[in-house]
Formats: sequence, C-alpha cells, structure tokens
Amino acid sequence: MKYIKLNTNESPFPPSPHVAERISGEEARLNLYPDPACSELAAAAAAALGVGPENLIFTNGSDELLNFAFLAFCDAERGIVFPDITYGLYPVLCEMYGIPYRKIPVGADFGINPQDFFGIGQNVVIANPNAPTGLVLSVSDIELIVRENPGRVVIVDEAYIAFGGESCVGLIKKYDNLLVARTFSKSHSLAGARLGMGIGSAELIGYLNKVKYSFNPYSINRITLLAGLAAFEDENYYIENCKEVIATRERVKAEIRALGFTVTDSKANFLFAKSDRIGGRKLYDKLRQCGVLVRHFDVPGISDYNRITIGSKSQMEAFLDAVRNIINDREIIK
Ligand code: PMP
Repeated sequence: MKYIKLNTNESPFPPSPHVAERISGEEARLNLYPDPACSELAAAAAAALGVGPENLIFTNGSDELLNFAFLAFCDAERGIVFPDITYGLYPVLCEMYGIPYRKIPVGADFGINPQDFFGIGQNVVIANPNAPTGLVLSVSDIELIVRENPGRVVIVDEAYIAFGGESCVGLIKKYDNLLVARTFSKSHSLAGARLGMGIGSAELIGYLNKVKYSFNPYSINRITLLAGLAAFEDENYYIENCKEVIATRERVKAEIRALGFTVTDSKANFLFAKSDRIGGRKLYDKLRQCGVLVRHFDVPGISDYNRITIGSKSQMEAFLDAVRNIINDREIIK
C-alpha cells in the first residue's frame, strides 16, 4: 500500500526550484571535500539572522547538533533537565552518554511552567514549540529560563519555530549560555539533505566545533551545503509554504474539534489530538489500515493522543475522510 505519510513532520512541499538548479550545477564538484567551516552558508545565515559567522555551527541535521551539545556540555556531574513530555532523543542521548537527567512534569494541559526551570543547577533543553504537543513558550519566558540559569547551558530546540512561534535567536547577544538549535528539515523541505544549525555565543560554538572536528569535519556534504545556501536565497518560497501549512493546520484543527477531538493549540507543523470516541492506539491502527500514517506514542499521559503532521491540502482531505469514516463506525468502542 502507498501510505499518506503524516508521521515524521516532513514538509509536503519540495525544496525551492532554486535548490535543484544549485545542486546540479558546476559548483557541486563532488571530487572535492566540502568546506568544514561551511563559510558561505555561515555568511548567508549570519546575514539573515543578524549574528556573526562565529555564532554559527552547521551539523548533519539538528539531531547531530543536539548530540554534540549533550557531549560538549553535559557529563556525570553536570546533567540536564527537560520537560517530561518532549522530544524522545533527549533521554536517548543521556542514556547513551551516562548523563544524569531529570524530567520536569508539564501541566495537565501539557503546558511548561517556566519557573519550574529556574535555578536548576543543571543544563536545560526545551523544544520550542514543544514536541509532540506543539505548545510554545514566549521569548520572555525563554529569557527568564536562560537568565535564571547562569553558568549552565540552556538549549532551545527551535525545530518547529517557523510555524507560529517567536524565535529567541535575538537573545544570544545578551546571554552567552543560550544555544538555539534549528533545522532545515521542516520549514525548509530539506529533511533528506540533513542540515541543522546551532546559534549561540562564540564560546559555546567553539566547544561544539571541537566535538564536530573530532568526529568528522566533513559531516555536511557539498550538495547539502549548496542546498542550504539556495534555501537562504529563496526565503520567500519557504515563508509562503509555512503560511500554507499554518492555514491548513488551523482548518484541520477546527474540523477535528468539530468531530469531538481534543486538540492542543499547536504552533508546529503537526497537530496533537485525542478523540472522545476512540483510543489513541486504535485510531492509529485504523488510520494505518486506511493508508494514513500518523504517530502514536505508547507513553503514559499521552497514549490517548496521536501526532498528525500537516501535509498537503489533498493529503489532509484524505486524512479527514478516513477519520470521519472511522469515528462514524458504530462498532467503535473506546
Ligand atoms: N528536534 C525536534 C523537536 C524534532 O522533532 C526533530 C525531528 N525529529 C529534530 C530536532 C531533528 O531534526 P533533524 O535532525 O532532521 O534536523
């Protein structure tokens, strides 16, 4: 069966046509190693973000950046805290490196209370918007968390920031303990190219570069470097795509609420929803049988929910048709 993939938060849009032009042109020159410093990309990103190239590091997806950051800033004495409902990679990295970690409970509505993260004595990582809830913290809340943890690194994972949240990148000039993680996988349609970006003080970036250069200075290949550059050169294309994703998200949210779903106020390219008629795992299975893949987490507190990536308009119509059929089936017992 050919599935409609609404399970990994990819963009339904292809990269900008400019990306294809760039990577198939003469510059690709795959006989040469890539530039480990990613200088051209750094210059373009620095101009776009209003920071210096020394404030930037590029990695093979933002997962690699998170990996480097946990390795660079955490150890057996200096652990890390994060919300109990968040991106699954954080505890995985801690387990792998033997880093002590603590999960701070989110509220009954899945909201993060910034004060719970004040003066924590450990490093902090927060996905903003959070995953899989899609809930955002304001820049002022993030600033408080960064300010109240001097001498500790606060990582803000902005993988989904382009879909309605406000970026805290501007704070890096004021706080040397803030690292912002970005990805080109979601808003910039480059999940397959693997490109992530870290933004922080020159000091933090220096530590991260030590890790990067020890593993593999060439982790961003020449094609991905060009694709990233082309993405910066065609920012309007992505802004329009994000607008469309946001509009589709709001429409689908209203539709499933009308069908009795509880849906968080997601500012990401996915919805997080539970039905009053069918359990989370059952809905996941039934959607799969209809050819629609969503993401179910068999985790206490959220197992009634599914995370649904916002795809193209037609993909979402197919999703809504499937949902309507499933929940109108009289056989369904929660
Ligand atoms: N952070 C969060 C919160 C994510 O959901 C993801 C995607 N799974 C990533 C980071 C990593 O994305 P990538 O490695 O593709 O940049």
